[in-house]
Amino acid sequence: MVIDAHCHAGKGDGLTGPWNTEARIEPYLRRARRAGIDRTVLMPALGGNYRRANAALARIALAHPGRFICFAFVHPKRDAGRIGSMVEQAVGRWGFRGIKVHRLDAPATREVCETAQRLRLPVLYDVAGEPYRMEMLAPQYPEVDFIVPHLGSFADDWRAHVQVIDQLIRYPNVHTDTAGVRRFDYLVQAIDRAGPRKVLFGSDGPWLHPGLELHKIRLLGLPDREQAFVLGGNLLRLIGKAGDRRRLPTAEPIAV
Ligand SMILES: [Zn+2]
Repeated sequence: MVIDAHCHAGKGDGLTGPWNTEARIEPYLRRARRAGIDRTVLMPALGGNYRRANAALARIALAHPGRFICFAFVHPKRDAGRIGSMVEQAVGRWGFRGIKVHRLDAPATREVCETAQRLRLPVLYDVAGEPYRMEMLAPQYPEVDFIVPHLGSFADDWRAHVQVIDQLIRYPNVHTDTAGVRRFDYLVQAIDRAGPRKVLFGSDGPWLHPGLELHKIRLLGLPDREQAFVLGGNLLRLIGKAGDRRRLPTAEPIAV
């Protein structure tokens, strides 16, 4: 089974770029099907009201039963004070399995990490070229699994890649994904030095082609067992810690 650990769906309110305007799931699904991707981690597009965006994401996932694993997007600043209840609702009501935060919104806070720790969820934290932020979070919350996507930089910053590889080695709870990483040798290095259990295949669909991103993993030429970790085993391990939390009581209902 191949799992894409990083894809977006739904609309954002930013209107300044594709990432905060719209992520259409249908073209992604067609491409993913052709590429042999079985399941996908889905998160909202950037920007806007994440309460609404998470609810919209749940509706998309419901239309494709068993196909998606959803992560709740939270804004560390704008959602401050209600992050715990937002995530609890997403987990308890819709079966969400992780948390997404983006440095472009605001740096991750204790509230985000404590929510993750309490609910035993992984945090996909896009540090947007600032991997040093993990130096505080990773040792403060050793029980929380962090996924730093794009090897630390969607913008091809090789210095960020090098720092994240070093963090993968030093911190047992830091992982990365392969989405949009263009400089191939840093992926080779990440797996060689940190091991195949620290790297997850992700596409950053629908904006990047999942088949193209998946081909990068095949080109690594890993032994089958190691490739299986990257193509889904690691993701299942990270989301598996919470068990099935669907029956978690919800704090307050949100209109869907
Ligand atoms: Zn993304």
